[in-house]
Amino acid sequence: KLYNMVQDLKGNIRVYCRVRPIFNSEMNGVIDYIGKDGSLFVLDPSKPYKDARKTFQFNQVFGPTATQDDVFRETQPLIRSVMDGYNVCIFAYGQTGSGKTYTMSGPPGRSATEMGINYLALSDLFLICDKRKDMMTYEIYVQMVEIYNEQVRDLLAENSSCTRLDIRTCSSEDDGLSLPDATMHSVNSTKDVLQLMEAGEVNRAVSSTSMNNRSSRSHSIFMVHVRGKDTSGGTLRSCLHLVDLAGSERVDKSEVTGDRLKEAQYINKSLSCLGDVISSLAQKNSHIPYRNSKLTLLLQDSLGGQAKTLMFAHLSPEEDSFGETISTLKFAQRVS
Ligand code: ADP
Ligand code: MG
Repeated sequence: KLYNMVQDLKGNIRVYCRVRPIFNSEMNGVIDYIGKDGSLFVLDPSKPYKDARKTFQFNQVFGPTATQDDVFRETQPLIRSVMDGYNVCIFAYGQTGSGKTYTMSGPPGRSATEMGINYLALSDLFLICDKRKDMMTYEIYVQMVEIYNEQVRDLLAENSSCTRLDIRTCSSEDDGLSLPDATMHSVNSTKDVLQLMEAGEVNRAVSSTSMNNRSSRSHSIFMVHVRGKDTSGGTLRSCLHLVDLAGSERVDKSEVTGDRLKEAQYINKSLSCLGDVISSLAQKNSHIPYRNSKLTLLLQDSLGGQAKTLMFAHLSPEEDSFGETISTLKFAQRVS
């Protein structure tokens, strides 16, 4: 069966695919071919070769040798449009271990060349601030939260474990903030950004000691707010949301119970709501179901309208991940 993705960009939604390297050389991979035109061919390991090939189409595909810089270069124009007043949302989707955090933040203990999109985006925004300083004055603020079991938690608060934040949906408010109670941090340099990112990552990790590897079961959202003023007094306000989603893997309902099952159900629900929202935007439906999850409610202002959306579909190329790979590809196909 052939899964063919629509190539033309419906509105402002685009989907990139990134395939990470295979680490265990004993394993077979399922990626057959990656085309420069954004096509991807995978092989179903359970089928004879002549029936095994499935084809998918993306706006871009990054293979295992693509660098952080290669990926950033294809993302940069989108990110830069934030400085012109557009709202932008970038998501990392995929099963746990497929490279979502690598793309957004970089690997643990990252070197300068391994920095992810979050850091590269901010450093690029600072560059533009400087370039435009004779025409525009910008202020940049960040917030960082996680959504776990449909509760929003501030990752940059003094005592992050005891804050439960409410989402404000009336975008007409002067400040345009959907999380007015999450701490706001003014940033002026990449050093400020690194400090905050690290603090947020520590806060996220603190809670994971009690519940094994919780970070893969929560959505982490890095929110960048931009305020600009030009020399004639005109103003602009926009935001960039950088989202490292919870792992999309299905859990076997016969094997988990209690808290673990509840967690899995929350994740399933919020990821499928996200899929619903993006695909109804792509189809230009009149009703967009933002209210069905905290994630889509929180991102409402930067999904749809003039906003630009980019989804990274991450793949683990090993044979034993084929089932999840197909389900990620189907999700990506649905939203593109
Ligand atoms: P996820 O966040 O989806 O669970 P990670 O980003 O933690 O996955 O990636 C899993 C492992 O693979 C990590 O050790 C990470 O550093 C490594 N990794 C992921 N993507 C790449 C890549 N493109 N190149 C090299 N290593 C990668
Ligand atoms: Mg991760």
